[in-house]
Amino acid sequence: MQDRETDGHRARKRFGQNFLSDPNIIRRIIDAIRPQPGEVMVEIGPGLGAMTAPLIERLRHLHVVEIDRDLIARLRETYTPEQITIHEGDALKFDFGSLVTGRDQALRIVGNLPYNISTPILFHLADYADAVKDMTFMLQKEVVMRMVADPGTEEYGRLSVMLQYRFRMGRMFDVPPGAFRPAPKVMSSIVRMMPLPAEQLGAADEALLGRIVTAAFGQRRKTLKNTLRDFMADADFAALGLDSGLRGERLAVADFVAIANHCAARGLSES
Ligand code: SAM
Repeated sequence: MQDRETDGHRARKRFGQNFLSDPNIIRRIIDAIRPQPGEVMVEIGPGLGAMTAPLIERLRHLHVVEIDRDLIARLRETYTPEQITIHEGDALKFDFGSLVTGRDQALRIVGNLPYNISTPILFHLADYADAVKDMTFMLQKEVVMRMVADPGTEEYGRLSVMLQYRFRMGRMFDVPPGAFRPAPKVMSSIVRMMPLPAEQLGAADEALLGRIVTAAFGQRRKTLKNTLRDFMADADFAALGLDSGLRGERLAVADFVAIANHCAARGLSES
């Protein structure tokens, strides 16, 4: 994909800029989000404002996080401070929790995300699940398929386990390359992520869960006995009733949580 001019703006590849231009698709996405006046919503990467304008129309006020200074200047010219709060900078470093001020408030996060940073941004956003009501994103279809994948499938991996641990997720609909300017090479999909209640999560040590899942999928073709050798001995697998000859892709999210909690409890009893 070459940098190309869209609506007087040269689309920047390094910022993953593919601007939505199909009004029917934009309407479908906004309908799926169902913005209600008074809700606290933030759009990641508003770009040329394809979703920003209809969101502001329904919400009256919107937060946006944008990295591209040229686009920020255009947003400032187009909207008043009553309509938009522009947070200039990198969404990967943005403190989404800072937007939630009241105890009963819950943040809604939306965006046609820059595909070049989709995995790091999803992991960053997962840290704010407590403050969030829901998130609705456009992402590369292949990434969405990995997010919602079931155990035992080729797409199932670290992204599936770590996000499904924290969110209920659903793929809503696909968007073809022709809906964007410039057109990306790949299909896109809309995904909705709803945080699970804190009491359903169940991992005593989430950092440890993350390390175990990373190890289990680090070498996909190896068995758990190999990939988890730093965490689990044969007796540990036996205690959990798990077959160490399986590969990580066969385990459900609950199995990974059980492994992490077993290791955490053993660590505690050893200390
Ligand atoms: N929302 C617009 C649309 O649908 O037409 C633009 C979507 S475009 C795929 C991604 C947007 O995210 C661009 O506006 C880009 O400048 C912005 N962006 C890229 N990297 C970013 C980052 N790290 N933090 C914040 N915004 C970023």
